[in-house]
Formats: sequence, C-alpha cells, structure tokens
Amino acid sequence: MTVRRYLLIKGVVQGVGFRPFIYNLAAEYGLKGWVLNSTDGVHIEVEGPVDEVEGFISQIRPKAPPLARIDSIEVRELEPIGYTDFTIRHSEGDSSKYIKISPDVSICEDCLRELFDPTDRRYLYPFINCTNCGPRFTIIKDIPYDRHNTTMRPFKMCKLCQAEYDDPSNRRFHAQPNACHTCGPHVWLERSGSRGIVAERDEAIREVIRRLSKGEIVAIKGLGGFHLACDASNQEATAKLRERKRKSLKPFAIMAPDIETIKTFCFVSDQEEKLLSGYQRPIVLLRRKPDAPIAEAVAPNNEFLGVMLPYTPLHYLLFCSDLRPEGVKPFIALVMTSGNLSEEPIAIDNEEARERLKDLADWFLMHNREICTRCDDSVAKVDLGTQIMIRRSRGYAPYPVDLHIDMPQILACGAELKNTFCLTKENHAFLSQHIGDLQNVEAFKFFADSIEYMKKLFRIEPEFIAYDLHPEYLSTKYAMEFQGKLDLIGVQHHHAHIASCMAERGIEGKVIGVSFDGTGYGTDGRIWGGEFLVADEREFVRIAHLKYLPLPGGDAAVREPYRMALSYLWDLYGDGLWETGLPMLERIDPSKLRLIVRMIERKINSPLTSSCGRLFDAVSALAGVRSVISYEAQAAMELEMKAWREGGLKVEAPSYGWDLIKDESPWLVDMSETIRGVVEDVLSGKSAGWISHRFHRTMADVIAVVCREMREEFELNDVVLSGGVFQNRLLLNLSFKRLAEQGFRVLFNRDVPANDGGISLGQAYIAASRVRG
Ligand SMILES: [Zn+2]
Ligand SMILES: [Zn+2]
Ligand SMILES: [Zn+2]
Repeated sequence: MTVRRYLLIKGVVQGVGFRPFIYNLAAEYGLKGWVLNSTDGVHIEVEGPVDEVEGFISQIRPKAPPLARIDSIEVRELEPIGYTDFTIRHSEGDSSKYIKISPDVSICEDCLRELFDPTDRRYLYPFINCTNCGPRFTIIKDIPYDRHNTTMRPFKMCKLCQAEYDDPSNRRFHAQPNACHTCGPHVWLERSGSRGIVAERDEAIREVIRRLSKGEIVAIKGLGGFHLACDASNQEATAKLRERKRKSLKPFAIMAPDIETIKTFCFVSDQEEKLLSGYQRPIVLLRRKPDAPIAEAVAPNNEFLGVMLPYTPLHYLLFCSDLRPEGVKPFIALVMTSGNLSEEPIAIDNEEARERLKDLADWFLMHNREICTRCDDSVAKVDLGTQIMIRRSRGYAPYPVDLHIDMPQILACGAELKNTFCLTKENHAFLSQHIGDLQNVEAFKFFADSIEYMKKLFRIEPEFIAYDLHPEYLSTKYAMEFQGKLDLIGVQHHHAHIASCMAERGIEGKVIGVSFDGTGYGTDGRIWGGEFLVADEREFVRIAHLKYLPLPGGDAAVREPYRMALSYLWDLYGDGLWETGLPMLERIDPSKLRLIVRMIERKINSPLTSSCGRLFDAVSALAGVRSVISYEAQAAMELEMKAWREGGLKVEAPSYGWDLIKDESPWLVDMSETIRGVVEDVLSGKSAGWISHRFHRTMADVIAVVCREMREEFELNDVVLSGGVFQNRLLLNLSFKRLAEQGFRVLFNRDVPANDGGISLGQAYIAASRVRG
C-alpha cells in the first residue's frame, strides 16, 4: 500500500547537514517526495510503500547528523499524489518564525584528515569545513542560514566547490562556508604598524611559526575575534605580553596541539578529556603538574591552567610539522588570549585590530573572511563530577538553555560585569555570548547591538524587560529607556543568582539560597554579597547575611583589598588595630592607612556592605597574600591557591570562630572571631596556606550551620549555592560535603555560570513567574 506522509521536524536542524541526510535516507528507502528548510524547521513529504515510509521515519532520530538536535517530529497522513522523484526544495523565509542557529563548531575528523592529506585539494587550507563543522554563529548575518546571508557571500565558489555544494550525496552539500584555496578566504601576514603584506597563504603561516618560536607576539584573527599568541613555554615572550597588557596578572589561556601534550603538563581526567575534545572546544581549567614547562607569567600564582585544543583548521596549521620551518621545535602550547587591552571587547575587524592591538602585537596574521558576530572563547571546568560553565560563549551560544516551562517573550538585561543578556521564547532561554564589562563604552555598544541582532535572529519582540535593581548599571539604564513602552520588572541581584540555578535545574518552589559574591545592590540600597535567602521563582526573604561593614572608598576598596582588611580590623580592635603589629600594616604607606581609617571612622565615602567577596579580600590581605589587585577576584583566587598548593582537599584544618546573632531579623553572621583568629595565626608565623585552609573551612561551617538553622525554621531541604564566590573549588567542595552530610539536596550552577554571566537567566525566570501572576 502506498502512503504519503508529511513531517515537520523541529530543533537544531538547519546548517547541520540535515537536508542531505534526509535526501540520502529517502533514497535508501526508495521514497519520493521533497524536503524543505524553513524558519520553523524542516518540512518533509515522503511517498512510498507503508513499510518503507515507516522505516524511513524510524531512522531519522538514530541516524541524524552529529550536530543536529531534534526537539520534535510531527507526522501527518496525506493522500498519495504520485511523486516521481525526491527533491530538495529551496529555503523559505518567513519573518514571523525562527530557527535555532548552530554555534560555531570545531573542525571535524574528516576535514582534519583532508587538511593533512597532501593529495587532497584542500591540503593545508586554513578554512576547510563541511556540513558537520566550521563557523556558523560568527558568520551569520540573517536567517535563513544560506550563503548569501553569511560573511561568505563575497566568495564565489569555484566549479569544484559548487559541484560539492550541489551534490546531496557529498559531505559539503549546502555547506554554506564551503571554500578552497582557489575560491575561498586566505591569510596573510602584516608587521604591526605597517599594513604591507609580508607573506601570504602557506608562507604567512610558516613565517608566523618562525616568529612565535623567536618569542614574538602575533595577533591572530580567529573565529570569533583576534587572539594574541606567543610561545607559552617562553618566559620572556609571556612576560612581555603581560607587560603590554598593562601588567594585569589575569591568567592567559593556552592552546595545546593534542590531549597527549596537555597530559605532559596538566592532570587530565576522563571527564576533562571529554570536555576538552567536544566540538565546543572550551577552555578547560586543569590542575597543572608541578614541573609543567609552561612559563610562570602564563598564570601567575595559579595552580590551574586554562587549556584548550585547536578548534579551527588555522590553529591546527600553527602546530603542524608540514609548515614548521627547519630547526624550529614544535610548540607544547601557545598563549591564546583575547585580543584586547583589558576589559574592552575582543577585536574582530581587521582595521580595528590594526589600531587597537598595534602596541600589543608585533605581527598580525590576518584573513579576509569578515567576522559578523564577536564571540569569546568559553571557559569550563569539571568539579564535583560534573561539567561547570564559567563563561558560556563560543561553541555554546546561541544555543538556548532549555527550560521546563514555556516563557513569555522577555529580555533580561543581566548585570554589569561579565554581562550576558537573555531573550526568552517558548521553553527556550537564548543567552547571549559573553558581552563583557559594561562600564566599558565599547562593551555597552556591543551589548545594545547584540540585543537588536538576537531579537532579529530569533524573531523575538519582548513584552517584558527584566533588570538589576542597581540604578547605576548601564544594563539597568538601558532597560529604563523602555519605561512606559514595555513592562519593566526589577530583580534583586542575589535572588537572580539563586534563580539562575533553579531555572537551569527546573526547580520551582521554595529553596534555601546561599548567594555569595562580590557585589550586588540590596533592597535597602546597601551592597549585598553574603546572603542567605528563602527564595522561590517569584520572591525572596533575606533570612541572614554577613554583618555590614564599611567599604572604605567604595570601588577603590575592590581594587585595594587591604582597605577591607582595615575595615574588619577597625571593627574588631578600634584604635587598638595599630598595636596589633600586623605585617600588612607595615607594607603600606602609613599616611594612607590613617586616611582610610579616618574614612571608616567618620563614615566618609564608605558604603556598608555584607559582601562575602570582600571578606575573602580582607583575609587575603591580612594573610599577606594580596593587598592590591590587577584583575577581578584576584585576592580571593590567590588565597584559595595557597590552600591548593598546601594539600588542597586532603588537609584537615580547624575552623576559626564566628557568631550567628539571631536576635534580630535578618540574622547576622559576625566574622569578628575569624578575623581575630587570622590575626593570631599571622602573628604566630603560620603559613598563608594554613590560614587559607582554616578560613575556607570556616566559611563551609558558616554555610552548613546557617542552612541547618534555616531548615529548622522553614522546613526546607534544598540548598542552592550561587554567586561568583562559588567558583572557588575549595569552598564549593567543602560546602557541598558538609551540606550533603546533613542530608540536604545541594544544587549549584552547571549550564550557566555561577558568576554574573548567569544573572540574566535568573532575571528572566523570576520575571516570567511574576508575569504569570
Ligand atoms: Zn568537517
Ligand atoms: Zn573552491
Ligand atoms: Zn553577582
């Protein structure tokens, strides 16, 4: 019996080789009909014997191309009409619908094989790709995803490429970025400050390898922006790059040619190996081996290295022997840090890079394929047996985070630092790539442009805007522009952190939320950051927090952690602080110290804060680890590293004292005794590592005890740990263990960062619940 059936397949089915797959599958079963890509999914009609049609349908999910993600298959019965062949119909544009756009995908095994096959016509071609791999999000200008809507538009395919593109049985059938040496983009080398072409194509790459091996710094145009590259084992080169990047000590990411090489300088578990080699190719934080031949300047004072594998063919060429000049040793790893000065967005345009990076790089490896959308490398780690995102960007964005509920169309603007925003539709939360720190003018422009772009891409017209309560955040000011036009929903920062975890884990109802971070605007106008909440997806009540202390100088105290140490000392000892004999007090200009104490005393420019990040700062400064920072959270991070260097989780150390004061509401967590203990340990010559161990255990103790008290009071058993402080591995592990031992269900962020990069998801989740009323 002949039947005809119509199928609508939704999910990530565009630009992933889905149509040729359907074409070939239909051929296999001898079926007639057609397949069509549309903005709402892939439409198919198949006609043939009933068994064959059913066989065909049953094989769609199991045999789908590797990058496809099928959400649903809808099937309808139709009257047979006698198709005579199977055709691939042209894409249809429909402005009201949208499709999911694939992130950029690292080079596949097949393309890699061809890249190094001297008999292949794309031998050593830096832009080789196919339907299973290559650029997507960063080259797409509009949908549907067709070549003329991408930055490949200026490159007219040669006869051979066109034939592949037109052949449904070819791996490059409708591979939009398809290209070769003859017709596609190419690379060239320029000397910084002069735009003359020094070398082109293979010669340019050979020359870059030579220059890198001599310790020079090369700006390399990549997939989502420029990297600054140098030899990661070269002390002088890496130190020079640090010097040029305004001496910030923020760790550089490195790229190594393969897993085997990474294993020579880092410990790599099976899970970490899987994360490293996945098609997203994030930077993975790995424990370094003690004798790792990686220059100290790559990640100063850090026990972990951010390592990634090559993800574009060009990266592979930098490591390959085929282009390596004679006498040059293979690289163990290259520094591959974002092509920017500090917190400004990564450079993407050739002209912009020439200007902005001219004092940073000695050379520029350019190419002529335009980057439409900026996208930084993602950062992830494996901890507590699971993958945890630290920066969700290239390889992940713009795939949505799928929620368990349908959402109204909301724009959530996120926070200020590490900004991402989020647009929702159906059960999808489309989180933007990493936008950066919005205090930066360029980053703010990127933020505003990206919102417009993603609205267009996903056909979302938000009816509601969620924003952070901080009146000075540029993301908040952006939201305020819509006052009177759209419904605005303000969301408290720490509530949003907790909700970000609830959203990704599909939790509704009340939980105990422990929200620890550096900064966030409280409902009382003060700076919060050490918060215990009873929260659900709509509201929260602040049950306990770290005792308020002055933050002398406001933002200056964030850059100079010793100021917060002084605040804690003054609170504990008053004028007696000068008699403590603490070494920290001797390291800093006495007139400056007195000035700061006067500020605290007279409450001048000293807003009150309950920040947990600032408590870590204070202890770091007191313990002699870090008094002044050059990048965010450096003092806390280096304090943690002291503990990892001295045994990590294996060490048993007694907690310091602290008090929970329950006679007011909210309860207060008073850390005075901890500070006293730290001071005593410092004065009796205990190591910073020991102090760090004791302090981390104290904080886990605080979390365990306060959560237990809250359970008794509110009968809640789920604890959500969120906020940037929980990126601290030691604290997360110790707290998790303590809470689990007490029988709590403990949840923490996995798919979106615990830091402010995840805030927008939490905002959207809360806003949706308030809208539902
Ligand atoms: Zn490929
Ligand atoms: Zn070609
Ligand atoms: Zn935060």
